[in-house]
Amino acid sequence: MTILSNYSLEDCNTFGIAAKAERFGIIQAEQDLFSLDFEDNIRVLGGGSNLLLPDSVEGLVLKNEIKGIEIVAEDDTSVLVEIGGGENWHEFVMWAVEHNYGGVENLSLIPGTVGAAPIQNIGAYGVELKDIFEGLNAYLFDEFGEEAFTPEDCRFGYRDSIFKRELKGKVCITRVYLRLQKAPHKVNVSYGAISKTLEERGISEPSIKDVSDAVIAIRQSKLPDPKEIGNSGSFFKNPEIPQAEFDALLQKFPNAPSYPLPNEMVKVPAGWLIDQCGFKGVRYGNTGCYKNQALVLVNYGGATGKEVYDFSEKVLQTVLEKFGIQLEREVNVW
Ligand code: FAD
Ligand code: NAP
Repeated sequence: MTILSNYSLEDCNTFGIAAKAERFGIIQAEQDLFSLDFEDNIRVLGGGSNLLLPDSVEGLVLKNEIKGIEIVAEDDTSVLVEIGGGENWHEFVMWAVEHNYGGVENLSLIPGTVGAAPIQNIGAYGVELKDIFEGLNAYLFDEFGEEAFTPEDCRFGYRDSIFKRELKGKVCITRVYLRLQKAPHKVNVSYGAISKTLEERGISEPSIKDVSDAVIAIRQSKLPDPKEIGNSGSFFKNPEIPQAEFDALLQKFPNAPSYPLPNEMVKVPAGWLIDQCGFKGVRYGNTGCYKNQALVLVNYGGATGKEVYDFSEKVLQTVLEKFGIQLEREVNVW
């Protein structure tokens, strides 16, 4: 593997932050990891779509470009697919839809790589990676070897996994195993926007392709395209609070939206909280909140990571003061 010095990461992160890596290399196969010398400070980069970078990243940045999509087992109703961690997630979803394998259609158009998908258990429109996940292989930097992880090992939660906690920064996910369903499919159209779009299109019995097309159309109409305006998707997680706390909030804010969760908890859309604080569409220097979705922080051009971080802190504090709710960043801050 060739290691480059002082490498520009500007085109490697969807926020478009003009960061530089002290050293940078590309992994194309597991062998590249096995041949690494001991290194204290290694960071794995996928598509850079869930990252906020500082001006300069110390140590070694390894971009994962391990490729390959292969069916490794099959039965009457499903296929088990092995996917290289460096495959593009959306291209993999398109592969599944084309082959009529169901399970990932609601996760269409999520940027990034397959290897990063388990990090925050990616999710959208009522489906999460964990719903179809069978296992993964990861190289452990401290142990100089690869290990297989079961779903239980990964400790998936809402936009969360062991790789954001105990194993943060300690592994490179090399291969992911997902189980996809053969037809007839059971599609998930529980999120209002999907059923509304299908209804508008006159589709009453949607195929997985119909659901994928609807998700793509909704996302394209609502979310900023990183090619046009830098962003990393939702900057904060939707807070989950006890029902009793939410009932108290309703006294002051009767229009507050919520979605029920198990164990007497509710999910409050972070975008609504931020919007109510007056941040939607507002610009602060080179950064601010996107005009159609306050949850998405954007780079209008030339923003530094610090500028975006400081703005996110202002958003956090304002939401805390107004609602007493502590937001948590979803984006990985390096
Ligand atoms: P990166 O940003 O490169 O990395 C993210 C973190 O994972 C970093 O800390 C990195 O070190 C680590 N990492 C990456 N690859 C590996 C690996 N192989 N092994 C170990 N660690 C690794 N997310 C959702 O969940 N749902 C959505 O609907 C969604 N929509 C989005 C829409 C837009 C417009 C954007 C910009 C982002 C969106 N995201 C969404 C966030 C993002 O796309 C996902 O989190 C995605 O999985 C990140 O993949 P990546 O390859 O870009 O990861
Ligand atoms: P939205 O439809 O405006 O809804 C706002 C929030 O309410 C969503 O984040 C969602 O939570 C929740 N919600 C909506 N309908 C729900 C239902 N029927 N049941 C339970 N919860 C519901 O959201 P959006 O911003 O356009 O995003 C649509 C989907 O894409 C969401 O699932 C969102 O998570 C995902 N997305 C994620 C990112 C990211 O970077 N992580 C970026 C863009 C979109 P959940 O987020 O828990 O689903």
